[in-house]
Amino acid sequence: MIQLDEYGYYGKFGGAFVPEMLFSNVEELRKIYVDWIAEPDFQKEFQRLLRDYVGRPTPLFFAERLSEKYQTQIYLKREDLNHTGAHKINNTIGQILIAERLGKTRIIAETGAGQHGVATATVCALKGIRCIVYMGEVDILRQAPNVARMKMLGAEVRPAKSGSRTLKDATNEAIRDWIQNPDDTHYIIGSVVGPHPFPDMVARFQSVISLEMKKQLLEKTGKDYPDHLIACVGGGSNAAGAFYHYLNRKEVGLIAVEAAGEGIDSGKSAATSVLGTDGIIHGSRTLLMQTADGQIIEPHSISAGLDYPGIGPMHAHLIASGRAKAVAITDQEALQAGFELARLEGIIPALESAHAIAALDKLSFEKSEVVVINLSGRGDKDLETYMKFAPK
Ligand SMILES: *Cc1c(COP(=O)(O)O)cnc(C)c1O
Repeated sequence: MIQLDEYGYYGKFGGAFVPEMLFSNVEELRKIYVDWIAEPDFQKEFQRLLRDYVGRPTPLFFAERLSEKYQTQIYLKREDLNHTGAHKINNTIGQILIAERLGKTRIIAETGAGQHGVATATVCALKGIRCIVYMGEVDILRQAPNVARMKMLGAEVRPAKSGSRTLKDATNEAIRDWIQNPDDTHYIIGSVVGPHPFPDMVARFQSVISLEMKKQLLEKTGKDYPDHLIACVGGGSNAAGAFYHYLNRKEVGLIAVEAAGEGIDSGKSAATSVLGTDGIIHGSRTLLMQTADGQIIEPHSISAGLDYPGIGPMHAHLIASGRAKAVAITDQEALQAGFELARLEGIIPALESAHAIAALDKLSFEKSEVVVINLSGRGDKDLETYMKFAPK
């Protein structure tokens, strides 16, 4: 049975390792989040925004030509059709409603590629709340269009100038900010990572994905579950949302797809479940890529959203316990799968989601089995990278 215990652990992974200065903020959230999310008024507003603003429910699409190629029944859960282009908005809508109820007047967030930054800036504009996004200096240069989007939406983008000047450094800056401004500020974390209750709170907001999937599968296939459910994992929020209502349904095979980068043994990888060891990162105990003396090893992936040295505690537990199977996909394999989906189905996936598509090649299915791939986002942001590698 996959279950979160009262201290925020999935098996041995999770918990809340926070500086004393943040204890009361995290504790405040822990006390209210389950009850508030369940309240009818909260649900009414959350559902209204998911429907009228985000565009939910997202379709479940039968991919006929892809199914033909892999000789099985493949469905795509179209999170790429959400407002702002990915699943991340499901979580930022939920958290802005929590922040509003807590009376917070200032929002901070961390971002790597800028997708979570854009989703956060979007909901802050919607609610008229001040927004500050921390982003590594290197990422600011690499992701200019998303920086422009955040600014147009009224957010302030602050560069993280320490370390490798990428996502983990931006996260450190955001935590530092929260320590300095605990009273008026809420920190919208972008994945199922961080101290309890963030991983569980974010998973609950993203669980709308599998809630819709159950109903859609029942209509289309006559049963409310797939035989195989595939999702890419950076921190793990889109996978957590897709897996959520199937965690304790043994008939559903869960497949978590990680980024192998240039290869697991290349030194340029983000395959945390293979290369990671137990440790504490950004407030929770989980698997992370670290040296023998506990320094973080820089991850690498062609997709910025999978380029994280850790993995959410739920996924660390799912993989360690054997409930989920981990598959690692290289940059090359992901690019190829992105082109394949574009040419076979007319859908250009985010490079992150292309990793999930590429996993089809590593698995075997029966012809009659139902396979659902969570298509976490659209590929507009990745066109430049795709074009660099375009087949002749
Ligand atoms: C951010 C992102 C991811 C990775 O984040 P998770 O928390 O693992 O879901 C995957 N796909 C897309 C499109 C993203 O923007």
